[in-house]
Amino acid sequence: GFRCGIVGLPNVGKSTLFNALTKTAAAQAANYPFCTIEPNTGDVAVPDTRMKAIASIAKSANIIPTRITFVDIAGLVRGASKGEGLGNQFLANIREVDAIVHVLRCFEDDDITHVEGKIDPVSDAETVETELMISDLESLERRVVATRKKATGKDKEAQTQLPIMEKALEVLNDGKPVRVLVDGFDVDERRELRNLNLLTSKPVLYVCNVAEGDAAEGNHHSQAVAKMAETQGAGAVVISAAIEAEIAQLPEADVAEYLDAMGLAEPGLDKLIRAGYDLLELITYFTAGPKETRAWTVNKGSKAPQAAGVIHSDFEKGFIRAQTIAYDDYVGLGGEVAAKEAGKARDEGKEYVVSDGDVMLFKFNV
Ligand code: GDP
Repeated sequence: GFRCGIVGLPNVGKSTLFNALTKTAAAQAANYPFCTIEPNTGDVAVPDTRMKAIASIAKSANIIPTRITFVDIAGLVRGASKGEGLGNQFLANIREVDAIVHVLRCFEDDDITHVEGKIDPVSDAETVETELMISDLESLERRVVATRKKATGKDKEAQTQLPIMEKALEVLNDGKPVRVLVDGFDVDERRELRNLNLLTSKPVLYVCNVAEGDAAEGNHHSQAVAKMAETQGAGAVVISAAIEAEIAQLPEADVAEYLDAMGLAEPGLDKLIRAGYDLLELITYFTAGPKETRAWTVNKGSKAPQAAGVIHSDFEKGFIRAQTIAYDDYVGLGGEVAAKEAGKARDEGKEYVVSDGDVMLFKFNV
């Protein structure tokens, strides 16, 4: 599954947020109790109201959401790239996630020490990013020498890698994260870049942790973060970890009223996951039947056989075709039979690119 690593300086609210995310009733969801894979890892159900609509039409006995994993990566301090604090372990943990959720302290509270002495989330972000950039720079400088040699020796792989490495080095030497390159890269270049597994090439979502009173509108700190995120191709959301912690303790029936009182339309978890989905360019498709309505996560641009492979590798290997109904047709027309009658159940083959919300039924050889 997809893994998001939660990082940030000490005392910014990482643990509070992580605990809240993984303990809410929504996160635990029916059938799948919250499970701890490792001490700091939590598996969270992706909230999606479309499942309920499909399930009521398909008369499904169960609803099974798709899931995303959060990892609480502690131990970042200034100097991590030089092995300070839990430096090396910290960097190794980041290497293993698909995206970075970077928590920034945007709340004032004199009782809670700020490691840098003042509330300045943009400068905090730079402190963390600098450690990651130093680490990338060192690792690239080590690797590029060998790649240059191989490229001169007509090694095809090295010849494709080298220009990507050199562009990344240039950006890093310029004091910028590698992720600024992604927008200008085509699919192949992006794949090469991903293969380098650099820390600053991973997508970043800044989470501005604000005081309860600022959760609805944000504050001048979170506005500064949003501006910074835009220049980097990163995302930003405003969340109050304190509110999320409160929600995590409430019975599900009381959540709506509490949110209303705080002036919020939805829990921060929903906002965070949606932003994470966008950032990772993920989409959801559904399977529906009497047993269950189930959501599955795939990368945007996935073809039908790959999507089938998320359910089982045999589905991908033996893929024949996929009966596909767009979500709006499925719900608008009232289910599979009606969609078929209206000619809205398409038979899609191997080259079909899955759309968000597709309700799919795979035909395959075993
Ligand atoms: P971490 O070191 O980043 O994991 O930070 P913690 O989650 O342990 O939080 C550090 C301290 O800040 C704890 O005492 C929290 O209760 C407090 N804290 C976290 N979020 C908020 C918040 O939104 N508002 C206030 N006032 N305190 C918070």
